[in-house]
Amino acid sequence: AFDVLVVGGGPAGASAAVYAARKGLRTGVLAERFGGQVADTVGIENFISVQYTEGPKLVNALEAHVRQYEVDIMNNQRATKLSKSEQVELELANGAVLKSKTLILAPGARWREMNVPGEQEYRGKGVAYCPHCDGPLFKGKKVAVIGGGNSGIEAAIDLAGIVEHVTVLEFAAELRADAVLVNKANSMGNITIITEAQTTEVTGDGNKVNGIQYTDRNSGDSHHIELAGIFVQIGLVPNTEWLRGAVELSPRGEIIVDERGQTSLPGVFAAGDATTAPYKQIVIAMGSGANASLGAFDYLIRH
Ligand code: FAD
Repeated sequence: AFDVLVVGGGPAGASAAVYAARKGLRTGVLAERFGGQVADTVGIENFISVQYTEGPKLVNALEAHVRQYEVDIMNNQRATKLSKSEQVELELANGAVLKSKTLILAPGARWREMNVPGEQEYRGKGVAYCPHCDGPLFKGKKVAVIGGGNSGIEAAIDLAGIVEHVTVLEFAAELRADAVLVNKANSMGNITIITEAQTTEVTGDGNKVNGIQYTDRNSGDSHHIELAGIFVQIGLVPNTEWLRGAVELSPRGEIIVDERGQTSLPGVFAAGDATTAPYKQIVIAMGSGANASLGAFDYLIRH
């Protein structure tokens, strides 16, 4: 059995594992895919003290750091069920059951995709999901934001300060964002909001994005906008479906944690994008992984 078992091999899980191992605790890391979202990232320019790196390179560095300690890495393994009696029990898709005194949940999240032609082809070549990460790459250029909820309108306001022009495309007839955000967006000179717009295709020149095609759902007409970047903001979904009923989740499915990363189930902690932490970034995930791991250590010395 483990002292600390970590579910997730992204920045949050890797950080939690290093902190646990450095306390001399028997530590295991279970990951469906070690590296998590970082493995899908091209350039990273906001991992503080590293001016520029790339996803796969950072994933290798994360793994090397974890492997420097006696951590049992179980890659390509999916957790399917969490329960607790004396110890925490974790059931895997392959039928195995792992036991641990404490558990750190760091299963991350996934961006909801548009599922239109060109989206995958131009991912990282103009199609982006994170304005904090990739906004500066489009300085002085034209971009679109897909989605008129709070995250979409926040992204548009954020990007409008950097890029030349932002077009927001919303599928519904009304924006779902808070009025204060919509008013702010409308007051900025370089944001155009188009409702009842169904995105149909990301267009490009073979190397990078050069535009977006959408259908006006009212008239049925098809339109093309020339631009350099497309920020997809139609939802970030936490990978917590399997945790329903085991730990308390927010209405959006995020794991509810306190300031030590403790969940509603004693001895079970959580960190990273899967939690209620409002901002989803690598440095933040790493910080919360360290925090949850220290929370688990504190719990162990008291039990
Ligand atoms: P994740 O990275 O999502 O990792 C989750 C881990 O859990 C994975 O190993 C996964 O396989 C595993 N897992 C999930 N469910 C299970 C299960 N049931 N059983 C076992 N394992 C499971 N942030 C920045 O700071 N800068 C950037 O430039 C940047 N660019 C980005 C670009 C893209 C395209 C994307 C998608 C994200 C980007 N982000 C960026 C956001 C950043 O990647 C995330 O905030 C960060 O990876 C979250 O870390 P995490 O450890 O919480 O989760």
